[in-house]
Formats: sequence, structure tokens, C-alpha cells
Amino acid sequence: MQLIDGKQISEQLLGEIAQEVQDIISKGGRAPHLAAIIVGQDGASLTYVNNKVKSCERVGFKSTHVALPDTTTEAELLLEIKKINDNPDIDGLIVQLPLPKHLSADTVIQAIAPEKDVDGFHPINVGRMALSMPTYISATPNGVLELLKRYNIETAGKHCVVIGRSNIVGSPMSILMYQNSYPGNSTVTVCHSRTQNLSEITKTADILIVALGKPEFVTADMVKDGAVVIDVGIHRIADASKKSGFKLLGDVKFDEVSPKCAYITPVPGGVGLMTIASLLTNTLKAAKKEVYS
Ligand code: NAD
Repeated sequence: MQLIDGKQISEQLLGEIAQEVQDIISKGGRAPHLAAIIVGQDGASLTYVNNKVKSCERVGFKSTHVALPDTTTEAELLLEIKKINDNPDIDGLIVQLPLPKHLSADTVIQAIAPEKDVDGFHPINVGRMALSMPTYISATPNGVLELLKRYNIETAGKHCVVIGRSNIVGSPMSILMYQNSYPGNSTVTVCHSRTQNLSEITKTADILIVALGKPEFVTADMVKDGAVVIDVGIHRIADASKKSGFKLLGDVKFDEVSPKCAYITPVPGGVGLMTIASLLTNTLKAAKKEVYS
């Protein structure tokens, strides 16, 4: 069994991005610039945005952090988005989700200019992804592809089973895995909450991508010997023995599944660490006008 080390790969990616930024600046260009809007005071969201901003600094990006109060109206938020859309010095814009209940994520995402939508959530970018056109692939599926690529895992002709069909993980993941590219060219089965005989299907997976949001749901009897298992799930579980008061678990019961696998991502230390690197990769693409010229 080989562990897929998300920490090592994400560090490698950040190093490569930092090098490219230096090259751009040494040739007289300007640093890529990411703007992040956060509405409200949700603790986890604040941490995520702060980590994104810190990572921007690490690779030499410029970043702008717009913090708006809980009481922000839709019109006010749309105005902030418009200002950033119209600002030629800013390459990428993300609005941290979830938003307070009175704001519609769909409306907000659709207000972001597609060429600055480095989260890859705008319907135009999702459509371009589905059509294999140049686009910003959203952070989590992009992170999974990068891990498969960096470990040279063969995907062509393999049976890839994806558990979960959400717009941010399962659905794009399944599309990307059957596309005519590498990683891709797999024969894909998508399983979801209404799938019958789930374990009969998962047992036939050469590559099993798990994103259903239930701690330690996938057990050893659901996995074929020699499978590649990618665990997207993240759960904070109270644990008094830990200094932090909690431990992190994935959707896969790691201890019993890992001995059967050819490769497996741990939680923590796997897919989760790749998401910021993916966001920065997309921002660099935006600055280089690689997707929309
Ligand atoms: P979601 O709740 O939006 O979707 C879960 C999906 O799983 C649904 O499509 C549902 O049909 C399916 N499902 C639920 N129960 C099932 C069952 N018993 N059998 C088969 N399918 C079932 O979740 P999501 O946003 O896609 O996230 C999934 C997990 O990934 C969560 O644990 C989340 O925290 C984690 N996540 C991690 C990252 C990361 O950066 N690593 C990013 C996003 C989400």
C-alpha cells in the first residue's frame, strides 16, 4: 500500500507556483491578484479565507480580503462583486460559501465574471468543464486529478466508482474521470443516496472516489484488493484525548481499508490539503489569461 501524500504534493505545487510568479515579475509582469469576499463571522469560513490569503502571500500573489457584515444585502454584495469584476488589477475572485441564509449562492456565483471565477463554480465554467473546454476546474476535483497525476496512477480503461453526486465534488469528478484526457478515460459509475447494492458496485472499482459525507462509511468489505481509494470526506469528531478537542476522519475507514489498497489518501493529509493549491493554480491561469484570452 502506498500513501498518497497530499501535504508533499501541495507543497510541491505551491513551490512551482511561487517560481512562476518570480519568473513573471522578473520579466516585468505583475503578481497575480486574488480577491476573497467573506460575508459574516462564521468561524470555519474565516479560517478558510485566512488560510487562502496566507497562501497567496507565500507564493507571491497579491490578495485583497473584503469582509462584509452579516447584515449585507444582496444588492450590496452584488455591488462589491461588480467593483472587483471591473477592476483590471484583480485576476481572480472567490466568495466564501456558505453565505448567510438571506443571500442566494446561485445569484452570487452567477454575478462573478466567468473569467475571474477561479473557484470554477459559475455555470459557464461548469459547462466548459463538461465540454472539455479550457476552464477553471473547481478546487476539490482538480486536487484529486493532480494527486492521480503526480503519482502516475493509470486511469485509462479502469473502472472508476464515484460515491456522491454533489455539484462541487461527485458530479464534476465523475465527468472529469471519463473525459478523453489524463487523468481520465476511465469507465465511470456514479453512486448516490438512491443507489442499490452499493457495495456490490464499489467492490468492482479499480479507482474508488468517496465523497458522500459520512464518517468511516466505506469499510474493507466494500473495496477490491489493489484498488486506488481517494477519500474526499472530512469530519471533525469530538475527541477529548486530542489537544484540539477533536480528530479528523474521512468517509473511509482508513485502518481496515488501507491494507487492501494499492494507493490511498489519508485524512487529514490527503485531498483536503490540495484545495488551496488548486485555487492558486486557477488564479495563476487567470493572471496568464490561459482560459479566457
Ligand atoms: P453533499 O452532502 O453535497 O453530497 C453527498 C452525496 O453523497 C450526495 O450526492 C448523496 O447522494 C450521496 N450519498 C449520501 N449518502 C449516501 C449513501 N448512503 N450511499 C451513497 N451515496 C450517498 O456532500 P459534498 O459537499 O459532496 O461533500 C462530501 C464530503 O466531502 C463531505 O465529507 C465534505 O466535508 C467533504 N468535502 C471535502 C472537501 C475537501 O477539500 N477535501 C471539499 C468539499 C467537500
